[in-house]
Amino acid sequence: MRAVVFVEPGRVDVADVPDPDLKEPTDALVRVTRAAICGSDLHFLHGKTPTVRGEVLGHEAVGVVEAVGDRIASVSVGERVVLSFAVACGSCWFCTRGETNLCDRAAVFGGGPFGGNLPGTQAELVRVPWADVNLLQVPPGVDDDRAVFVGDVLTTGFHAASLTEARAGDVVAVFGAGPLGWCAAASLRAIGVEHVFLLDREQRRLSKAADAGASPVHTGSRSAESALAEATDDRGVDVAIDAVGAPDVYLAASTVVRRGGRVVVAGVYAGESVELQLGVAWARALDVRFTGVCPVHRDWREVMRRVEARDPDPLPLVSDHVPLERAPEGYDRFDRRVATKVLIEP
Ligand SMILES: [Zn+2]
Ligand SMILES: [Zn+2]
Repeated sequence: MRAVVFVEPGRVDVADVPDPDLKEPTDALVRVTRAAICGSDLHFLHGKTPTVRGEVLGHEAVGVVEAVGDRIASVSVGERVVLSFAVACGSCWFCTRGETNLCDRAAVFGGGPFGGNLPGTQAELVRVPWADVNLLQVPPGVDDDRAVFVGDVLTTGFHAASLTEARAGDVVAVFGAGPLGWCAAASLRAIGVEHVFLLDREQRRLSKAADAGASPVHTGSRSAESALAEATDDRGVDVAIDAVGAPDVYLAASTVVRRGGRVVVAGVYAGESVELQLGVAWARALDVRFTGVCPVHRDWREVMRRVEARDPDPLPLVSDHVPLERAPEGYDRFDRRVATKVLIEP
């Protein structure tokens, strides 16, 4: 089959790789009809997350079940499904508590040696372990372009929005207008939070803020602190979400919240560190929450229902469709931030 593979930092390609097989009775094979390029795929492209030459990339996909193992009960051949980007076993101590992101056997499609060595989804076929847990049927009212968001970025944004525990009248600032920040903002609006600000250094990335129901703040031309102070009688926002994963953003998010405010860290961190003034955080009674990898399985049914009702509708985020053979161009456009979300059609 054909698949997108990692070649070296700065370079991905499309190559012939062996077709996957059912290995365990709890596996399924899915023929991919739509995959997507995610911000975390760029970490492989840049060499920030290590992987090996020839590894199939990607973790977001929708497709049709092609084959199932003997012990699969909840999906059948021919059904349209979305894959959870993060794979869980469904039976360990964490999984039975619903904390599937902390699963003892956690893996991520296309995650390389540190992600469980599971080949990725930017391919014609993909093997899904514990398919009863990691596949969700897609209802007829949800097309592939929308459904692909339920397996990762919209559900991840929804999870971040839920962790804010924001109420209707609260003011929430979301740092980073990439797909994760956009999805967090759209989810906040969908769950009834009226005042959502979306902040980014790049004006171009803010062009879709209104589609998420958020007010844009261009931090390239004014400071986040003064813009948000103005909107809150100088108090600061009730909650800030770091949807970037950069130390300066984490510090900015901690600065713009009011006393007793909450910071939700949804952006992905690896080896970064910051110097924290613990006394300041203590005196201001800050509540800081790290999302970790999203427990997709906990929220994806609700997110699918919401997408079916277009509340929120992730489609405005899609800027590009490319055939599988041209996926490297999609990586390039997404990397240069010309594209907001690239969908791949095998
Ligand atoms: Zn993703
Ligand atoms: Zn588990």
